[in-house]
Amino acid sequence: MSEPQHIHDMIGVGFGPSNLALAIALQERAQAGAPKLDALYLEAKPRFAWHPDMLLEGSDMQVSFIKDLVTLRNPASPYSFLSYLHTQGRLERFVNRKSFFPSRQEFNSYLVWAAAQLEDTCRYGQRVTGAEPVQDPGGSGEVLAVTAEDETGRQTRYLTRDLVLAIGGKPAIPDTFAALQDHPGVVHSSSYLSTVQPRLAAAGKPLKVAVIGSGQSGAEIFMDLANDPSRPQVDFIFRSHALKPSDDSPFVNEIFDASFTSHVYQQPADQRRALMAEYSNTNYAVVDGDLIDQVYGLFYEQEVASGSAYRLLRSTCVTAAAASGQQTQLTLQPAQGGETRSGAYDLVILATGYRRRLGETLLAGLEPHVHFESPDRNYRMRTCGTFRPRIFLQGYCEETHGLSDTLLSVLAVRVDEIAEALLTPQPAQLAAAE
Ligand SMILES: Cc1cc2nc3c(=O)[nH]c(=O)nc-3n(C[C@H](O)[C@H](O)[C@H](O)COP(=O)(O)OP(=O)(O)OC[C@H]3O[C@@H](n4cnc5c(N)ncnc54)[C@H](O)[C@@H]3O)c2cc1C
Repeated sequence: MSEPQHIHDMIGVGFGPSNLALAIALQERAQAGAPKLDALYLEAKPRFAWHPDMLLEGSDMQVSFIKDLVTLRNPASPYSFLSYLHTQGRLERFVNRKSFFPSRQEFNSYLVWAAAQLEDTCRYGQRVTGAEPVQDPGGSGEVLAVTAEDETGRQTRYLTRDLVLAIGGKPAIPDTFAALQDHPGVVHSSSYLSTVQPRLAAAGKPLKVAVIGSGQSGAEIFMDLANDPSRPQVDFIFRSHALKPSDDSPFVNEIFDASFTSHVYQQPADQRRALMAEYSNTNYAVVDGDLIDQVYGLFYEQEVASGSAYRLLRSTCVTAAAASGQQTQLTLQPAQGGETRSGAYDLVILATGYRRRLGETLLAGLEPHVHFESPDRNYRMRTCGTFRPRIFLQGYCEETHGLSDTLLSVLAVRVDEIAEALLTPQPAQLAAAE
C-alpha cells in the first residue's frame, strides 16, 4: 500500500446524519462565499442507510421533523424535510396528517434523498480502521494518515489535515453474552431485520424467542415479533419492574434545545452528571407512551383469550447464557432474589443499547497525541504537545455537551459550530488538559 500524495483539508469518518449534515453545512457556507474545503467522507456501508435493521413497520420518529439536517440552522435550506416532501409531492398530505413525527421509514427516505445529492463527497464501502500522524510528504508539517478497508479487505490510505469522527455507537453486548457474540442464535437489535425476520420465515414452525431490554428498541422488537406471521413464542425479559415512559413533555424537552448545550458545557463535571441522571428518562431505558399501551393491551388480550405465546419476565436478570446446540440456554434470576429458572431459546435478541468509548474506536492508536476526555466547546479533541491535526467529534461528547449529543436534536446547529471551527485557520495549540 503506497503513501498517497494528496492531502484533504478534512476527512469525515462515517456518513450518517451527523456528517451528512456537516457536508451540507460546508456546502452552503461555500455557496455563501466561504472557502470550499477539500472534504471527503468515508462510510463503511455500501450505500446510505439510517439504522436499516430497525426500520420497523409502524415505527415513528422520536423527534420533530423540524429537527432535520438543516432547519434549525437554516430554515430556507433546500435540504430540509419540507423540501424533500415538496419534491415527492407529499407536502399537503403530510400537513393533513397533523403530526410532527414522520415514520422512521420516511425519515430514512429523506436522508437517502439528501445523501444522494452529496454523493460526490462520500466514498462508500470504506471502513476506517485507524489513523496515525505522519509528516506531509510535501513538507507542510504533520497530517493524519487514515487507513480504510473495503469489504474484500483491500486497504487504502488517505491523508488529511483535519478529521471529523461521526461513527455512531457500537452495539453494547452484556458481559453475560460476551462468549456468544458469534453464535447465530444471539442477535443485537442493530441487526434485527436482516437477521431475525429471514430466520423466522425459514423455520417452518414458531420459534422460541427472548427479547432482552426494557428500552424503546426492546418494546418495538417485541411488538414486531408479536405481529409476525410465523407466530413466534416470545419472552420479553427485563430487569426493571415496569416499562417506563419517555418524558417528552415541553419543559423537559428544553434540555434538547441547542442553547442548552452551552449551559451543560459550562457546568462542573458533577453538575453535568447530575443533569444527565435527572433527565436520563428522556432517552435511556424508556419507551414511548403509545407503545407501552400497545404492549399492555397485547398482554391483556392474551389473558382474555387464555393464550400463552407471550410472557413478560419483568424484574428478571439474565445471569448466565450458554450455547446449547442451535439454541441458547438462559439462566434467569428474579431481581429481588428467589428461585432461579432457565429457558432454551432459538433466538435471543439483545435490545441492550449502544456503547460510545473513544478508546475502542479507530482513534485508539492516537492516544499518545490526544485526550479522550474534555473536548472543547466546538467538539474538538484536546491534543498533546505539538500534535497539529484537528479532530472533531460528533456523538461522542454526551458527558460534556449533554444528552442531545447522541440524538438528532442539535445536529443542524452542532455541524454549523464545527464548520465554523474547521474554516477558522488553525489557532494556537489548545492547552493540553492536565
Ligand atoms: C433505531 C434507532 C432509532 C433512533 N431514532 C432516533 C430518533 O427518532 N430521534 C433522534 O433524535 N435520535 C434517534 N436515534 C439516535 C441516533 O443516534 C441518531 O438518530 C443518528 O443516527 C445519529 O447520527 P450519526 O451520524 O451520529 O450516527 P449513525 O447514524 O450511527 O451513523 C454513523 C455512520 O458511521 C458509519 N461507520 C461506523 N464506523 C465506521 C468506520 N470505522 N468507518 C467508516 N464508517 C463507519 C456507520 O456505518 C454509520 O453509517 C435513533 C437510534 C436508533 C438506533
